[in-house]
Amino acid sequence: MFKIPRGTRDFSPKEMEKRRYIEESMRSTFKTFGYREIQTPTFETLELFTAKSGEAIIDEIYHFRDKGGRNLALRPELTAPVIRFYVDKLQMEPKPLKLFYFGNCFRYDRPQKGRYREFKQAGCELIGTDTPIAYAELIAMAYTILEKVGLNNMRLNIGNLSILSSMFDVLKLPKEKQKYLISLIDKSQFEEVLSALEDFGIKKEDADVFLGTLRTSDINKISNYIKDDKKSKDELSNLKKILDLLETSFNVNNYKLKMSIVRGLDYYKGIVFEIEAPALGAEKQLCGGGAYELISMFGGRESSTAGFAIGFDRTIVALESEEYLFSKPKIDVYVIPVNEDMTSKALEIVQKLRNQNISTDIDLLKRGIGKSIKYASSIDAEKVIIIGPDELEQDSMTIRDMKSGEQKLVNINDYPPSSKKF
Ligand code: AMP
Repeated sequence: MFKIPRGTRDFSPKEMEKRRYIEESMRSTFKTFGYREIQTPTFETLELFTAKSGEAIIDEIYHFRDKGGRNLALRPELTAPVIRFYVDKLQMEPKPLKLFYFGNCFRYDRPQKGRYREFKQAGCELIGTDTPIAYAELIAMAYTILEKVGLNNMRLNIGNLSILSSMFDVLKLPKEKQKYLISLIDKSQFEEVLSALEDFGIKKEDADVFLGTLRTSDINKISNYIKDDKKSKDELSNLKKILDLLETSFNVNNYKLKMSIVRGLDYYKGIVFEIEAPALGAEKQLCGGGAYELISMFGGRESSTAGFAIGFDRTIVALESEEYLFSKPKIDVYVIPVNEDMTSKALEIVQKLRNQNISTDIDLLKRGIGKSIKYASSIDAEKVIIIGPDELEQDSMTIRDMKSGEQKLVNINDYPPSSKKF
């Protein structure tokens, strides 16, 4: 017996039905916001990911040397591949460029519910604009995608790394100390932030005010705390515009300002946001994104970039926890020829139905009508067509409605009726 690799999953027809439904719903929302789909390879050069995230990422990903001696890695995320693609081939495209994608990602994570070694992301990148309306639209799209798949319980948190940096400036903390604090803030270890601040020689009351500002969602308190320089002021006024647009134009009111969102990565800057499903506990984060800078690092001409990634698998776990009623895989018609002589007529009908995009299956095992009907019920067939010699003599066949059990005789030439409902 072979075992499935740790952290990976097989998907049954029932699970694939859910996954396809969610993918189609997400794709359709991306498109309604004017985004266009792209695809990049499953593996990339290892260097692409170390350039973006540093050498430490090597421990967290699947990498290998191919037969030509190239160092490659299964992608752990899609932003770096998409920006590589952009720098390579899309820089001349008219701006803004709105790109979306679905792709499997691979991380050497410790598996648990909602955390896998192979998982799927739905994401997008917005290139060439940094206006408040662009960011408000991006955040609203992430929220709408999850809302449209049917999720009810979500929390949207919005932060801003430039404003967080202005908050550090108030304490006059050097960059390496900020970095250390950021790693604690990322893990929501606020007690540790407090004691680290005191270790760095910050007075207790100043550290308390800093922490209070970090944890407040009152924009005025944040505004009063940070320095009154032009950069901070501009950033704050843009953040206000984004929040205002979200509420008034995009109808997204269910958000919280959260300055402690740091996204754990160095290349983010400015606006950042996360969407979580509180019911999911430890692995509750469904979506993360924000504005970032990568293009110049990858050798391109700098242009504003922002994007987000939604955890596809976690979205399903969240929907399941809300007891969302997914549709099951089903088939429109199941055809049963009652004996060998009926096979060619049965196949003729099957062909006719399939040509009209009616999903149709036929008994391939030559079993009795009773067993065939049982099988048809197990694959959720809506109708069963029984082709027998007596009926055929009158150019007819029996149609059974599987829900009601009702049967009727129908002329073969009148079937299927012009509408798909029959
Ligand atoms: P990240 O690229 O780390 O910001 O992840 C974006 C989203 O992908 C997260 O919000 C999660 O929903 C999802 N995600 C990240 N890592 C995993 C994993 N190991 N298994 C399943 N989903 C994941």
